[in-house]
Amino acid sequence: MPFLKLNDHIKDRQKTQISEYGITINLKTLAGTTDCPDCVYDSQLKSSSNPNCETCSGSGKVKTYTDHNEKGLSHTFTAEELTEVPVGGIRVGDYRVMAEYSTKSYWQDIIENKTIISIDGVNVVCKRVLQSDLKTVVFAYCSRTALD
Ligand SMILES: [Zn+2]
Repeated sequence: MPFLKLNDHIKDRQKTQISEYGITINLKTLAGTTDCPDCVYDSQLKSSSNPNCETCSGSGKVKTYTDHNEKGLSHTFTAEELTEVPVGGIRVGDYRVMAEYSTKSYWQDIIENKTIISIDGVNVVCKRVLQSDLKTVVFAYCSRTALD
């Protein structure tokens, strides 16, 4: 089979696997900031009028996110598999999510903004996103332990 056709074939097969067996993951992307709902933003001081506000840590602004749902095939690492993991800081019970290549920028966005996401109801942070050799899918390595 010619290379490009083989590539398309693999891409199609992985896409089907992801849509049939994947779970929906909410990849929030940073949209911007807005005035904190729990205090008053002082535009002259460029911070909260209440420096002890817990919601915004005294900044007077909170981050806003855009919801973006994507399907991903999640895999949970066992102790035996940890030696094969190409990303540091991944422990037993942490996740690798296989998602379509087109989702790469969303994963990078949650890494940059340290956004906490939920996989199977478990809160994790995404540590790194790698791509398959043929750039058909991405593998997002997500850790519960990084939240500690
Ligand atoms: Zn506040």
